[in-house]
Amino acid sequence: MTRTSVLEYEPTKIEAYDFRRAMEEASRCLLCEDAPCSKGCPAKTDPGKFIRSIRLKNVNGAAETIRENNILGASCALICPQEKLCEKECSRTGIDRPIQIGKLQQFAMEHERALDKTYLSKKDTYTGKRVACIGSGPASLACAADLAKEGVEVTIFEEHQKIGGMLRYTIPPFRLPDSVLDQDISQLEKLGVKFELNHRVTPAELKYLQQEYDQVFVGAGTWQPKKLPIPGADLPGVVLALDFLAQAKENHKEMAPLGDVVIIGGGDVGMDCAATSKLLGATSIYNVFLESLEGAPAVQSEKDFVFKLGISLISEFKPVEFIGNGKVEKVKFQHITNESTILLKCDTVILAVGQKMSEDTCSLKESEHIFIGGDMANGGNTAVQAIGEGRIAAAKIMESFK
Ligand code: SF4
Repeated sequence: MTRTSVLEYEPTKIEAYDFRRAMEEASRCLLCEDAPCSKGCPAKTDPGKFIRSIRLKNVNGAAETIRENNILGASCALICPQEKLCEKECSRTGIDRPIQIGKLQQFAMEHERALDKTYLSKKDTYTGKRVACIGSGPASLACAADLAKEGVEVTIFEEHQKIGGMLRYTIPPFRLPDSVLDQDISQLEKLGVKFELNHRVTPAELKYLQQEYDQVFVGAGTWQPKKLPIPGADLPGVVLALDFLAQAKENHKEMAPLGDVVIIGGGDVGMDCAATSKLLGATSIYNVFLESLEGAPAVQSEKDFVFKLGISLISEFKPVEFIGNGKVEKVKFQHITNESTILLKCDTVILAVGQKMSEDTCSLKESEHIFIGGDMANGGNTAVQAIGEGRIAAAKIMESFK
């Protein structure tokens, strides 16, 4: 396969419903009382309510519900594992199949984009309170939005050049185009949230911010990649998933040919690395992980997408050694329950085995003036979980002002 620009690649999985298809899908909804789908959303996006609006042909009302509850509503429509959350809880599943909640959310958010409307309302009264949010990932953005709506002055400090944290730098454009994330971020700008970019907050500055601001929220994420403690792990050619994805997204034209690629890790990040390698023209790609195919943590749609691209998935094997002379040439794997081994030839190995907190942040504890949320608090979960935590923190911060 020739090298494809990942920036131009748009697979069918992010195609939106048109009006007729959205109405058909919404008309399947049972309009449940106390909707189970709404209970299944960690961000409290309330699909039961917005689907009811779509069914009544009130797409503005649907977009308003999503926006009021989820500042990252457009991004979540594309990247949420709905099959494990709202759609898993959907009452329609017992009859035939769940309502395609993500697709309906995407439809309402595309309507918002087409009309360039703002559905968010902000209280006129300024509370006189100031809050600093550290990091601009989903938890911080959600916390900032809820506070700004209540009349709090919020400043977000972000060490990178662009807003969005992992969503911006590590999710490939074929899953989340920058334009969709920008649509969400523009809502925060309309709420008056301020951004200090290229600003890394050191532990010493954090103490200063605690004095300068009424409260501080830390949602700095888990950017430190985990490594594998096995022979050869430092050989050139063994790269970390987040570095690989960030480079592919920002600067893929400058990347050296990948050759034969082995990816280690069966989560969404591993699948993203596999698909990105394919789009960048890798010669062969194997994605190997410890779990069974069904048990691998990536959502089914990501596994299906990787299958569709013709990538080989090898389950229930663990890496035991990276082999090479001056650079990685092979990886040896052993089955997790027996002695069988396999040897895969490679030019590039991508480690997608998880992230942890940086040393700066791992000693931070929640206290009277510091609130913590997102991957830092939960060890690395979904964006929608982080949004839920950011919202809970915002509610606690508002409570602290009473
Ligand atoms: S659970 Fe399913 S059927 Fe019930 S309101 Fe939610 S989307 Fe509709």
